[in-house]
Amino acid sequence: METKIIKCDPLNFIPEDIEPAALAIKNGGLVAFPTETVYGLGGNGLLPAASKKIYAAKGRPSDNPLILHIADRQMVYALASEVSEKAVKLMEEFWPGPLTLVFKKKDIVPFETTGGLDTVAIRMPSHPAALELIRRSGCPIAAPSANISGRPSPSKASHVVDDLFGRIDHIIDGGETDIGIESTIVDMTGEVPMILRPGYITTAMLREVVGEVDIDPAVKGVDANIRPKAPGMKYTHYAPKGELTIVEGETERVVKKINELVLEKEKEGFRCGVLASAEQYESYDADIVLKVGSRLEPVTISAGLYSVLREFDDLEVQYIFSESFSGEGLGNAIMNRLIKAAGHRVIEVW
Ligand code: AMP
Ligand code: MG
Repeated sequence: METKIIKCDPLNFIPEDIEPAALAIKNGGLVAFPTETVYGLGGNGLLPAASKKIYAAKGRPSDNPLILHIADRQMVYALASEVSEKAVKLMEEFWPGPLTLVFKKKDIVPFETTGGLDTVAIRMPSHPAALELIRRSGCPIAAPSANISGRPSPSKASHVVDDLFGRIDHIIDGGETDIGIESTIVDMTGEVPMILRPGYITTAMLREVVGEVDIDPAVKGVDANIRPKAPGMKYTHYAPKGELTIVEGETERVVKKINELVLEKEKEGFRCGVLASAEQYESYDADIVLKVGSRLEPVTISAGLYSVLREFDDLEVQYIFSESFSGEGLGNAIMNRLIKAAGHRVIEVW
């Protein structure tokens, strides 16, 4: 299949440029598009054949449900059978934005899209290209991240090209995404909203709007054996090809430990890399040291995370050692992804 690339500058956005991609969605095809979180791989979410194509293109297990993307809050009522007052408050506060809400589904939403579940995950993204694509397609767009299953999610169009070129109709290239990690997912089907996946919208931000909010115990990452409530969270995700280890503790000790580990592995003839903050970047002796972002601005770390993991792959790094990041606020979501990428390998040096 020929994949066409559509360039789109979010700061000088030309709505008509999206039309060929919308036409592809209307015809049951697939389009990768930028959102404020990561790039999505979209198809008509009400068309079982389109959802099946998404699973096939990604190599994604078919019990891992897709998120429906809408362009207008009212669309939620056509897809969800129960929309609570708390859900309305969250939609008003955070949509458009990086928050996905899980509802009981209406019959119109096919089980092919929800991975067989009777619930549906819905989000209204804020990126102009995403909104325009949904509006012009005239349907909710089912879109998981636009990567081959198991690889880090794409935060720029070149990542999508690497994974899906030749398998999909269009890639809308809107440059680098702002947030870089996937949306916060909150289950709204119970009395108390429950966070199934942490993201840019933090627990504190949610609690400010609706009061009590629970967190799925599996998300806390302490016990790798607890089964998560969001089906997708059980799969190995975000894994680089090299073996990633996180070193956690007091800064100077972390630097010392990482340098020791690198020296040891390099002596054995392995190619090593360090995932570093801008603040500590200069302190490492490894051949390959990649700067992820600055601790002073956590969103630069989330924005750079998947890109850096993919760069280690491109450089064929065999052992990656990473600093640990604060678990507060957005840091909680960053550590959730990093710990998964590391297969829970964490060394503590307090
Ligand atoms: P992705 O877009 O690749 O990040 O994947 C979508 C994520 O949303 C997966 O982790 C799914 O498990 C989660 N998800 C989608 N629909 C539901 C649902 N109905 N209930 C719980 N989690 C869901
Ligand atoms: Mg994904």
